[in-house]
Amino acid sequence: MSSPKPPVHQSPRIGASIFERGFRERLGRRHFGKAERQEASRFFGGPPLRCAYCGIAEAKRWDHLVPVRAGGETVLGNMVPACGPCDDSKAHRNFETWLRERNMDQNAIDVEEQLAKLHQYMQAYRYVPTLLEDRLTKTELLRFGEVIKKLAALRMEADILITEYKSRASSRECGAQDQK
Ligand SMILES: [Zn+2]
Repeated sequence: MSSPKPPVHQSPRIGASIFERGFRERLGRRHFGKAERQEASRFFGGPPLRCAYCGIAEAKRWDHLVPVRAGGETVLGNMVPACGPCDDSKAHRNFETWLRERNMDQNAIDVEEQLAKLHQYMQAYRYVPTLLEDRLTKTELLRFGEVIKKLAALRMEADILITEYKSRASSRECGAQDQK
C-alpha cells in the first residue's frame, strides 16, 4: 500500500519561532513583574480584571499591545490584560486596525472607548514603541540578521528530519496493517 507523500510544510514549525520571539523580546526592555502587573491591573479597573480589548471577558493573559515583532517591549504601558480569544485573534497585528476590523463584524463593543483607554494607558506610562532597527546599532543589526538567518536554516533542517521521520513511521504503520 502506497501512502501519499506528506506535504513538506505539514510539520509544525518547532522552536525557532519561539526562540526568535524571545530573542527579539530580550533586545528590548523587560520589566514587568508582580508590582507592574498590579499597577496595570489597577489601571484597567481590576479586580475582576477585564480584557483591555473587548472590555467584557475576564483577562487571563498579558499581551504586548504593540507586538514584539513591531518592537513592542515588556513594560508598563505596553503590557495589557487580555482574554484568550482577543489575544489569539489579534496575534501580531496592529491593535487599532485589528480592533476596528473585528468590531465591524461583531459590533459588540464601543471601539473608540476601548482605543481611548489603550492610548491613555500608553501615555500614562510614557510608552513610545521603538523599532528594533532604531534600538540596535548597525553592527548589532547585522549580527541580529545573521542569527535569524541561521535560525531559518536550522528550522528547515529540523523540518526535513521531521518530515522524513513521519513518512518513514507512517509507511511502517501501513506495512504493519497490511500484514494483519
Ligand atoms: Zn477580550
